[in-house]
Amino acid sequence: MDLSKLNKILKGEPPYRQQQVNQAVFIDLVTDWDEVKTLPQKLRKVLQDNCPLEINADIFHSQDKKTSKALITLEDGNKIETVLMQHEGERHTVCVSSQVGCSLACTFCATGRLGLKRNLTADEIVEQVLLWNRVLKQLGAKDRVTNVVYMGMGEPFLNYTAVLKSIRLLNDKQGFNIGARKISVSTSGIAPKIKKFAEEKMQINLALSLHAPNDELRSKLMPINTHFPLSEVMKAVDFYIEKTNRKVMCEYLMIAEVNDSLEQAEELAKLLQGKLVMVNLIAYNPTNAYRPAKSKNIKAFKDYLTKQGLEVSQRFTFGQDIKAACGQLALEN
Ligand code: SAH
Ligand code: SF4
Repeated sequence: MDLSKLNKILKGEPPYRQQQVNQAVFIDLVTDWDEVKTLPQKLRKVLQDNCPLEINADIFHSQDKKTSKALITLEDGNKIETVLMQHEGERHTVCVSSQVGCSLACTFCATGRLGLKRNLTADEIVEQVLLWNRVLKQLGAKDRVTNVVYMGMGEPFLNYTAVLKSIRLLNDKQGFNIGARKISVSTSGIAPKIKKFAEEKMQINLALSLHAPNDELRSKLMPINTHFPLSEVMKAVDFYIEKTNRKVMCEYLMIAEVNDSLEQAEELAKLLQGKLVMVNLIAYNPTNAYRPAKSKNIKAFKDYLTKQGLEVSQRFTFGQDIKAACGQLALEN
């Protein structure tokens, strides 16, 4: 799929054409311009030749059918992945990639091992949601994608402009109309961009990948911490909370014998005390040398934080059988 020439093509057309195109592509979910009978045949032909609608994707469904993963091959041959999590009758959440690979090389992350190939365009980010809406339509689901999380491959805040543009597109009333409150961006802690994000005056959710309660361990797991140490990241988070009054989700992977001790829970509670945050403990999906924490350790860790007055939730691994963890599939391919 490539809509980059669309604006240029529609420039010589009456203004309502844009609306007809939006309706066809984002709401009717057509996969062939020839189906769009509201457009003159000549224009359909031009669009057919210049704006392919086909998305080249391999799709994998987990056994319970609740999680699906797609490996999309982009126009230039690069591959990205995106995940759909269906909660029937409730919500359909899509996890999107923001870059091909990632430059930040976190030691626990499969995407980190790919290095960075390039940034995605806003269209390529939106295309991932479009793909899942087409799949949902095909499956006969009555709902479409309701929530979007930027937690796939890449660091969204190192592709800031395209990410913000993609959010505005997802937000568009004439398109998917996904509310800002239903969109979450996860960052490894690019402090200046957290501050910039705070000034956007949109109700988008912010998630911070914390994973360690002190600089020593965090720098080992996430090399970006040497550029933006915890003190700076937490200052940016404070600024974000002050500006937006929105709760920040702190993601914490539970890795056995690395970050799952009670001493570390204590340190984490001190770090977050009194802040408008919640902690999301994530079951580690093994991609390399690390092992997931034992459930009794996760429970003790969680209980301690809760006792300290912190709000804690637990995210279980989903779609293990289709390797739905960040970056796993692309790495294999
Ligand atoms: N680069 C951004 C967003 C993409 S990563 C960030 O780091 O926040 C999205 C989330 O997936 C992060 O919280 C990351 O730590 C987590 N993740 C990475 N590898 C994982 C694994 N093997 N198992 C579970 N979660 C993982
Ligand atoms: Fe990049 Fe996020 Fe993976 Fe770290 S966890 S390597 S920032 S995608």
